[in-house]
Amino acid sequence: MNAKKILPHLILGVTIVGLSACARNPVTGKREISLMSTEQEIAIGKESHPSVVATMGLYDDKKLTSFINEKGKAMAKISHRPDLPYQFYIVDSPVVNAFAVPGGYVYFTRGIMAHFNNEAEFAGVLGHEIGHITAKHAARSQKSQLLSTLALIGGAVLAPNVVGQNIEALQQGLGLLSLKYSRDHESESDGLGVEYSSKIGYDANQMADFFGTLKRLSDNSGNAVPQFMSTHPDPGNRYTRVHQLAKEYQAQHPASYQVNRDQYLRMIDGILYGEDPKQGYVENGQFYHPELKFQFPVPNGWQTQNSPSQFQMAGKDGKSAMILLLAKGNSLDEAAQNMVKELSLNVLENTKTTINGNPAYVIISQQQQQQQQGQPQQQQQQQDLKTTLQIGTWLIQYNNAIYALHGLSSAADFNSSFNTFKQVAGNFRALTDPAKINRKPERIFIKTVPRDGTFREVMTALGMPASRLEELGVLNGQKADDRIARGAAIKVIGQ
Ligand SMILES: [Zn+2]
Repeated sequence: MNAKKILPHLILGVTIVGLSACARNPVTGKREISLMSTEQEIAIGKESHPSVVATMGLYDDKKLTSFINEKGKAMAKISHRPDLPYQFYIVDSPVVNAFAVPGGYVYFTRGIMAHFNNEAEFAGVLGHEIGHITAKHAARSQKSQLLSTLALIGGAVLAPNVVGQNIEALQQGLGLLSLKYSRDHESESDGLGVEYSSKIGYDANQMADFFGTLKRLSDNSGNAVPQFMSTHPDPGNRYTRVHQLAKEYQAQHPASYQVNRDQYLRMIDGILYGEDPKQGYVENGQFYHPELKFQFPVPNGWQTQNSPSQFQMAGKDGKSAMILLLAKGNSLDEAAQNMVKELSLNVLENTKTTINGNPAYVIISQQQQQQQQGQPQQQQQQQDLKTTLQIGTWLIQYNNAIYALHGLSSAADFNSSFNTFKQVAGNFRALTDPAKINRKPERIFIKTVPRDGTFREVMTALGMPASRLEELGVLNGQKADDRIARGAAIKVIGQ
C-alpha cells in the first residue's frame, strides 16, 4: 500500500459497445472481422490507464522515462500503425514484466528495466509489445478476457460473487495486467519485435538473449513464475527462432546494429530493486507499513501481494483470504454504511469494539450468489454454503484513517477461518520500531570490474555475498564461470 496513492476500492467501468466492423489488419494486410474500432481501442487504453497506475504506481525516474518515450515514439513512427497516440510508462513493480493495452499504452516494470543489460534488449521487448498493439491482438480475440482482466485490476475483488474465483485471483495476485495471447500472436509479435527494433538501429539478437534471462528467472523462482513467462510461453523455442529471424533480417539489411550496453547501464545506476519497504513489506510473519505506521501478522504459509491500493493475502488451500484497504468515510458509521451499500452485503452481525486502543467495528456479512434453478432444496442449501461469500470485516480507526480488513471465505468454511481472521485483525497495531520504520530498499549500482576473472571472482571482489551469486548472474546475464574483463561495467546490489 502506498500512502499517497492509496485508493479505496476502485471500480473500473469499462463499457464497450459491441460493434463489429470488417477492416484491413494493419500488419497482415488481410481483411478481418475486428471487434474494436481504433476509437474503441484508444478508449480502452484511456480508461484502463488510471487503474494500472492505481494498482502499481508509476516509477519516478525522469531520465529513464524520457529514454523509453524517445525510443517508443521512434519505433511507433516506423511501425504499421504510426498514428496511434502511443504512451510509454515505467510502473513501480519489482516483478519482471512488460505489457501493452490497446490504443497505444505500453508499460515496463522497474523490475524488467533492472534486468535489461543493454538498450537492444529493451528495444526488442518494446518491439514485441508494440507488435501486440499494431497487429490488434487484443482487439482480434481477447475482448472478453481483456474486459475481465480490466475488471480484476480495477480491484473489484469483492464484487464478483464467486468465492473460488475471488480467492484464486487473490492467490495469483492482482499486481499485474497480464493478457494471455495465443501462441500465434506471440510468434507474430516476436517477428515484429525483430523488425521494429532493427528498424530503429538495434541488434535483435539481444532480444533473443533476454529470453535466456527470463528462462533463468523462471527456473529459479519455484512457483513464483515471472509474469512475462506465464503469459509468454516457451522462451527456449523463441530464443532459437528470434536469433534466426535476427540473422535473416541483418543479412537482408546490412548495417551496423547497436547494442549500447554501457549507456544503458549508466542510465539504470541506482534503480530500485525488489520490494520497496516504504510501501509496506512482509518480514518474519508480520506486515509492516512504515509510512502509515501500522503492523499486523501474516498467517503461517500464506502468500501475500502488496499494491499501492491494497494488501492481500491468501492461504495455500484456497479457502480463505484477507484484504486490507482504506475504507470510504470519515467515521466508522459512515464507513460501515458505504461498505454495506457498495458491496451489497447482507449483514449478519455488527459489534463495536477496540483493537489495541483503536475504535473498531466487527461486521460479519454475506454476499449471495444467484440462485440456481431446478435443484432439490437440500442440495441447493449445500450449494449455497459453498458458493456464498462470507466476509468478516474489521473497520479500524487509526491515525486519521479508517482501514477495512476483510477476511473472506465461503459460508461453509467461514467458522474454521474465523479464528485466523480474528488473530490477524486483533493484532493490528501501531508500528513504532525505528528499525522497521527506517528500512531502506535495495538498489542496483553499476561498478567497474577491478581485475580480470570469472564472474564469481568479480562478484566476490566487489563484496557480494556468495548466497546471491545466481541472482546476480541473472541480473547481469552471466554464469558463475564466465570470464569478465577488467574495466567492464557490471551490476551489483546495494542500499
Ligand atoms: Zn507477448
